[in-house]
Amino acid sequence: MNSYKGTAVSAGIAQGTLLYLDAPVQPESFKDVTVCDAEAEITRLLGACNTAVDELMGLYDRALQSSGEDAADIFMVHSMMLQDDDFLENMRERIRGTKCCAEHAVTEAAKQFAQDLAASGSDYIAERGSDVADVSKRVIQILQGKDTSCTGNTEEPVILIADELSPSQTLMFDRSQLLALVSRKGSRTAHTAILARSLSIPAVIAPDIPLSQELSGKRCIVDGLTGTVTIEPDEQTAAQAQETQERYAQEQRELAALKDKEAVTSSGQKVRIYGNAGNLEDIDAVTASGGEGVGLFRSEFLYLGRTELPSEDELAQVYTNAAKKLGDRLLVIRTLDIGADKTAPCLPLEPEQNPALGIRALRLCFECPDVFAAQLRSILRAAVVGNVAVMFPMIIALDEIKYAKECLKKAAEQLEAKHVPYAMPKEIGIMIETPAAAVISDILAKEVDFFSIGSNDLTQYTLAIDRQNERLEKYCDVHHEAVLRLIELVAQNAHKHNIWVGICGELGSDLELTERFVRAGIDELSVYPGAILQLKKRIREL
Ligand code: PEP
Ligand code: MG
Repeated sequence: MNSYKGTAVSAGIAQGTLLYLDAPVQPESFKDVTVCDAEAEITRLLGACNTAVDELMGLYDRALQSSGEDAADIFMVHSMMLQDDDFLENMRERIRGTKCCAEHAVTEAAKQFAQDLAASGSDYIAERGSDVADVSKRVIQILQGKDTSCTGNTEEPVILIADELSPSQTLMFDRSQLLALVSRKGSRTAHTAILARSLSIPAVIAPDIPLSQELSGKRCIVDGLTGTVTIEPDEQTAAQAQETQERYAQEQRELAALKDKEAVTSSGQKVRIYGNAGNLEDIDAVTASGGEGVGLFRSEFLYLGRTELPSEDELAQVYTNAAKKLGDRLLVIRTLDIGADKTAPCLPLEPEQNPALGIRALRLCFECPDVFAAQLRSILRAAVVGNVAVMFPMIIALDEIKYAKECLKKAAEQLEAKHVPYAMPKEIGIMIETPAAAVISDILAKEVDFFSIGSNDLTQYTLAIDRQNERLEKYCDVHHEAVLRLIELVAQNAHKHNIWVGICGELGSDLELTERFVRAGIDELSVYPGAILQLKKRIREL
């Protein structure tokens, strides 16, 4: 038995069998992906090829020292292939000609080169075909940031374990197949942790856990209350975990008595408690816990792990179903927030030095206007049946809001022209996720109906702490006064201009801060479904 102490990022306890994810690449999955900007995609491809060449030369040097020239030669051959003009031109032409993505271009070019080599009549040359295939896989892995993984089909429910789990890897598994998540990298506000909480799956980040393929099939206990991962537990440990699991379930049942109660303090101040959702099941979880609405529908979760963009009809259907499930309750749909740790093969991004500071969220939507327009039209179509609000993420300036609203208006005109039924959203809001937006929130307030504070990104950008990087954990004071003062400033500015203000980042569920948020006059807290009842309890105690 081996126990590892880490950070609990999603509560609960689970026991089960481990499945180690090594992120294999599946080149076929990119065949239908198209890109908006071929030249940008070529730059992305060439960047990945250069990285691969650097890696291969590093491997060559190491192999030369440890095993001699013959063994090292293979890496030299691979790196030369990636610098071959014909090979590079073949990939460029494919991207320009068919607007395919870099992953598909490299796969197809490698296939063609392997065929040509096979036809050479020389066994030695024909064998180089497998080298081309090998090297293309390396490039794809780089392009994907090793983000592709297994298919998600498992015979029994599993505990996923990996160095780093991306939301799209996690989403490949059916909820019923997932018992818990364990990774070496990540943080409480990384999106996989957020996903785990929204799915009510225990999750622990354990940086010291040794990873290998042999882990698959081993028994494991994941304690998302204490942050402990135990591999091959002895009988006594397993029995104790079982007891804690039962006690935790009992506490959850007791909290359920608050489901239909409002979150009102003893002095009569009411805070609306909403839930965060990424799909329709989450919405059921929000209403089951007595959530009064959905304050953040993370619409990008419908795109993650997909090689093809969801169609406008599919999106409209999902949003309509979500709105119907909520009836009179508000559904705040946040427009696409892809980028940083949320990547989707259907929306390939150019590699950037600092993706969290790069083309993400609204910036990406502005660069892919067709994708944005389709999403806006689908939101407008859903607004016919329910109480739908739209919310724009990652705002830093007034002009962005104006432009996003113009896009919304144009989307409405397109529907009007085609006689498709639609309704304007009941409210238009923005996320306050950047220090810039917080500081000028008095100016931004004039242009919108509400603010929702994205404390995850607001913390990341205010403290200059990458929310993905577990090594920064010791610097990350989640109660940092700078962030709390910005939140208070935003609340004051919202109220000065008679709009409401909520918090939809993870701080909203931090019970140590609830009193301060109530004092600041926060009108709404939108939290993962599993936190709704605890939060109601806390506010009713104030
Ligand atoms: C946030 O940044 O606080 C937020 C709610 O958005 P996300 O976590 O999806 O980036
Ligand atoms: Mg955010």
